[in-house]
Amino acid sequence: MQGNDVSIIALIVAAGRGSRAGEGLPKQYRDLGGEPVLTRTIRAFLDVAAVTRVQVVIHPDDMQLYEKAVSHLGQDAKPRVLPPVSGAETRSGTVHNGLAALGSRNDDTIVLIHDGARPFVPGNLISRAINHAKQHGACIPVLPVTDTVKRVSADGHVVETLERNALRSVQTPQAFSLAVIREAHREALRQGRDDFTDDGALIEWRGLPLSTFAGDPANIKLTTAEDFVLAENRMGTASQMLTRVATGYDVHAFGPGDHVWLCGVKVPHTQGVVAHSDGDVALHALCDAIFGVMGDGDIGVHFPPSDERWRGASSDQFLAFACQRLAERGGILDHLDLSIVCERPKIGPCRDAMRQRIAAIAGVEVEQVGLKATTSEGLGFTGRSEGLAALATVTVRLPASLRR
Ligand code: MG
Repeated sequence: MQGNDVSIIALIVAAGRGSRAGEGLPKQYRDLGGEPVLTRTIRAFLDVAAVTRVQVVIHPDDMQLYEKAVSHLGQDAKPRVLPPVSGAETRSGTVHNGLAALGSRNDDTIVLIHDGARPFVPGNLISRAINHAKQHGACIPVLPVTDTVKRVSADGHVVETLERNALRSVQTPQAFSLAVIREAHREALRQGRDDFTDDGALIEWRGLPLSTFAGDPANIKLTTAEDFVLAENRMGTASQMLTRVATGYDVHAFGPGDHVWLCGVKVPHTQGVVAHSDGDVALHALCDAIFGVMGDGDIGVHFPPSDERWRGASSDQFLAFACQRLAERGGILDHLDLSIVCERPKIGPCRDAMRQRIAAIAGVEVEQVGLKATTSEGLGFTGRSEGLAALATVTVRLPASLRR
């Protein structure tokens, strides 16, 4: 490094195999709003000008996933990203490998050790870590503990209630002098100690001072599938999610029978409908609207009337299928709206049951389902009670880079 400026290196730990978050991929490579988690984590550090280099430690099997994650970064960012290093079985071993790879740098070098699965680390938290380390040496970001914390025995009995005011939960990036933390990791390896769950613990173990600075509640660690859902919902307010709206329309003719299916509800009527499936115009219109937001054909493409499997089929499975296709693309259903056009049967008495049924099939709240009905004032085919029609409008959010 040139000049008198202190070198700041971000060491990102991304060698874990954790796939509790689903999709079968290690969570740091899972898609989050159109990009791998690790891409976002690396970029957070590159966006802080004081960070001179980023070193990522990966699992040796993940080279392709890593290359893909880095390919999302801009060309000018890449010179600051060092080639990846292979991690080890344990977290401490992994950090040790990363530190060893940094080679001999000047004694002032500060290393920021960060979890790859914390992509939301704010730039001002990174700056705070750097400034605090320059003044106080080894330091870790902490948050006050707001829940009451109890120590519990192996058989699930409470042993004691801990003094909450003295407790802190610990985040990353943790900041250290490169020379000091590297020596601590070397010594731990020599002594066969690989049970440290964070790097601050090695400083404690060496009997060296370790100070704290304010962490940030936004700097969450993504662990479970629920964490990803919450994170994507939160990001839905940002530019990574795009709102899309599409419509659907369906008609069926009345025929012999004593009931019609509408919105997944069986409604007694003086006629039935002529249809290959159960002829539920409302659910069919909703399906087309959902296929529409994805540019994914229409109900006839996915469930051809020529296919005997769908003879008399209950249309709730069609809507469930469309919602599943949307979920697979990372889509979030915001609203389903329907207008049903017919002289009879009367929709009003069934409205709540219909909204509840649609909400149950689509996995949304009843408040997210709008349902109106109108007659055609005696005009046209609906006015003459030759059939009934439904118009649907669906609003969704989809990742800006639609996953295929
Ligand atoms: Mg239809």
